[in-house]
Amino acid sequence: MADENKLEKIISLAKRRGFVYPSSEIYGGYASVYDYGPRGVELKNNIKKSWWNEMVYKRADVVGLDSAIFMHPKTWEASGHVEGFSDSLVECKKCHHRFKSDNQKTCPDCGGELTEEKNFNLLVEAKMGVTDEAKSKAYLRGETCQGIYLNFQNVLNSTRQKIPFGIAQIGKAFRNEITPKNFIFRTREFEQMEMQFFIPPDKKLAQETFDYWKQERLNWYLNLGIDSKKLRFREHTNDERAHYALAAEDIEYNTPFGGWKEFEGIHNRGDWDLSRHSKYSGKDLGYLEPDGTRVIPWIIETSAGVDRAFLMFLLDSYKHDKDKNRIYLSLHKSLVPVQVAVFPLLGNKLELISKAKEVFDNLVKQGFIAEWDDRGNIGKRYYSQDEIGTPHCVTIDFDTLEKNEVTVRDRDTAIQEKVSIDKLVKYLKK
Ligand code: ATP
Repeated sequence: MADENKLEKIISLAKRRGFVYPSSEIYGGYASVYDYGPRGVELKNNIKKSWWNEMVYKRADVVGLDSAIFMHPKTWEASGHVEGFSDSLVECKKCHHRFKSDNQKTCPDCGGELTEEKNFNLLVEAKMGVTDEAKSKAYLRGETCQGIYLNFQNVLNSTRQKIPFGIAQIGKAFRNEITPKNFIFRTREFEQMEMQFFIPPDKKLAQETFDYWKQERLNWYLNLGIDSKKLRFREHTNDERAHYALAAEDIEYNTPFGGWKEFEGIHNRGDWDLSRHSKYSGKDLGYLEPDGTRVIPWIIETSAGVDRAFLMFLLDSYKHDKDKNRIYLSLHKSLVPVQVAVFPLLGNKLELISKAKEVFDNLVKQGFIAEWDDRGNIGKRYYSQDEIGTPHCVTIDFDTLEKNEVTVRDRDTAIQEKVSIDKLVKYLKK
């Protein structure tokens, strides 16, 4: 498949099949904001579940958190975002697009006149308070990890955790991105899955911990079926490394829109965060080592985007089966929005419908996420399940009534197999 068109094809499939819709379409749209439809919310939830399972449930030394989007505004001064998260930019007076100045006079997008350079802060501001007079400036969080730092001591004091240990969180983040683009790759509202691992301040240990989490995070993508040839690590150069980072590497995926792009960052943040919050809050966020010395822990962070992972899974699983002239998503089975679809061969034959309902109800009872479809012809039903990545379709036909056998079709091979109803659950579970 010509790779250049792949993103367009995915955007179209995502809308057609209920994964992702552009926001506020009835009002003419709202740039760079997206809504997740019935299929999308399932895929997204499954991505988050898989991450939580891997990062929290499988580990005795990582716990979860769900902190608020609003935080004390000082948080963002301490984090360095109020000063460090802003860019000096010019804005087009006509189309209002913003660009890094680069000494140009006219807008590269529409030829309009550009403003003088101004400072645009990437943090999204809000006003808190009931009356106009009492409103004070607040920020929608620009990253979820700050909520983790602010609760570091609460977690330490309210659980059995001792350093080294980690806190994981999934949640929304907001940034006034200058050039949001490439569908859900870069948007102004997005979700992050972040884990902060607190360790004693020690260079060697920090390096070991950093290497460990790098590999663990890469494995997560690989275990969910992402093509290893399309994944790589890339170390940040000195210039691009964030103000807080002692070491930073990205997990990159080779996209059809401009090649290798960041999907996750692994950072050694040193003692930057807890030192800064200690300083700005006046509270000592250090901890007592067994030998009685008080130290500020270092932090190794893994920071992934839910929406970017979602896009990676779509890009990587999108397949064109030329022989059978079909598109299918070869999504990992733990991520699929629907696990099994059940069809009566004909949507107007009562015996078939009632038998199919029996099969459907039993699968639901057994815990499968199942979908019912009795519209149109069977080929079209297969086609629509292929496009959302449903691993198996079960068809109830006249043979079923006679022999108690159903036809099970496999998504990836399109091969159909007869399976006895008594063995269906076992077959699908396997
Ligand atoms: P980029 O260089 O692409 O702007 P970043 O280095 O600013 O990303 P981080 O601050 O390290 O990103 O955020 C961690 C992760 O959060 C990113 O790897 C990405 O998956 C996700 N992320 C960051 N910004 C966005 C955005 N605007 N839209 C969607 N996901 C984002």
